[in-house]
Amino acid sequence: MDIWKNVLETIEENVDEQTFENWFKPIKPIYINNDSISLEIPNKFFLDWFQKNYLALLKSSLSYVTKKEYTVKFSFSTNKDILSHPTKKYQKESSFKQKKHIFIGDTLNKNHSFDNFIVGTSNQFAHAAALSVAKNPSVNYNPLFIYGGVGLGKTHLLSAIGNYLVAHNINVCFISSENFMNELINSIRYDRMPIFREKFRTAEVLLIDDIQFIAGKERTQEEFFHTFNSLFESQRQIVMSSDKFPRDINFLEERLRSRFEWGLIADIQPPEIETKIAILKSKAYTLNIPLPDDVCFFLASSINSNIRELEGSLIRIGAFASLTEKEITLSTAKEILKNIIPDNKSVIDIETIQKAVTNHFKIKISDLNSNKRQRVYALPRQIGMYLSRKLTLSSFPEIGTSFGGRDHSTVIHAVNKIKKLIESDKSIKGIIESIENKL
Ligand code: ADP
Ligand code: MG
Repeated sequence: MDIWKNVLETIEENVDEQTFENWFKPIKPIYINNDSISLEIPNKFFLDWFQKNYLALLKSSLSYVTKKEYTVKFSFSTNKDILSHPTKKYQKESSFKQKKHIFIGDTLNKNHSFDNFIVGTSNQFAHAAALSVAKNPSVNYNPLFIYGGVGLGKTHLLSAIGNYLVAHNINVCFISSENFMNELINSIRYDRMPIFREKFRTAEVLLIDDIQFIAGKERTQEEFFHTFNSLFESQRQIVMSSDKFPRDINFLEERLRSRFEWGLIADIQPPEIETKIAILKSKAYTLNIPLPDDVCFFLASSINSNIRELEGSLIRIGAFASLTEKEITLSTAKEILKNIIPDNKSVIDIETIQKAVTNHFKIKISDLNSNKRQRVYALPRQIGMYLSRKLTLSSFPEIGTSFGGRDHSTVIHAVNKIKKLIESDKSIKGIIESIENKL
């Protein structure tokens, strides 16, 4: 039967070797007529599993090869060889292992787990949402949209969900939207669209990384729109990451934008210094790099926002220490990183922040630290306190003292007020970012 041979060839290109061996090789075609095909398979267990996981793929391959729709009929084999099919083994184990997961998409980084994701105020919301989705897919937040700047842990969180689901035998697809597009292009080119569609629509959970990438790519948006709808309608979980808020992604179709906003949007902010220190200590421990506290503080306070850079610097220091068998000290660290962290940028302190703030608002330091309550002074003062809290290790009372001897409760109030303003007022957010960039 040439048709069957061609169908198998098509399938073979689209599943991994093991899957093909276990689930397609053992099938024996019995007959094929105008509208139906009859297949012999090993047993009932095979049938259940096959119907749930591969029937759709089989049907789409059939219609791809023949350009026709077929009804697929199954019968069980009495052949001894087939009876020794590996599903026999699963049958025995099935009391504790009903399902075997299928994973599709890009390679999941095994090192990205929830366990080694350090939680701080900047990322606790996104972390909690991701964990909740991993534990209860399709129950609470669908879709989940995680957004945040470069190197802040979006891919880590998506992979953590993926690893968690794989460990719990749930079918999951993790793919960057760039690879989604590449696969789409190949499928169009080789006339394999039905298989492409089927593939993404069989995942119980779809994790799609850097979705902002599809902006401006019409055909990819169109296809993703259908994938999204099909998954959403069959109550599958969708998780997306993006470096921008849906509304800020230019050239994104409106119908996609609105869908991205249907569920929960969780942001990841640049980490506070405490979180950076915690991340560094945890990485140093995992990588077995002896990291003295002063070096750790130096790294955390000099590298402003990007965790990937933070990690990169730590690895450089570690490599240097192990290659030269020298001890890591503050001065060696400064030397090793001098190209990345210019000397004058070394440690940000409250005074530096006050200078930057007063420069920006064109007011005097004495006014910043005075008792004047007009908004022209009060707002810069509160921004200064907020930045001091965010970028230095100073406590609330210490910050209060530096800003004209204020009480710590005033500082807490200021920090909270600015945090809220950043969320509600884009111009304030912009001002703060520009001051921060100059530090
Ligand atoms: P993004 O996808 O947002 O650009 P990544 O997820 O690739 O960023 O994160 C960059 C690096 O920083 C990764 O190695 C990741 O493991 C690490 N990282 C980010 N956030 C955390 C965190 N909260 N705890 C531990 N490691 C983190
Ligand atoms: Mg990423």
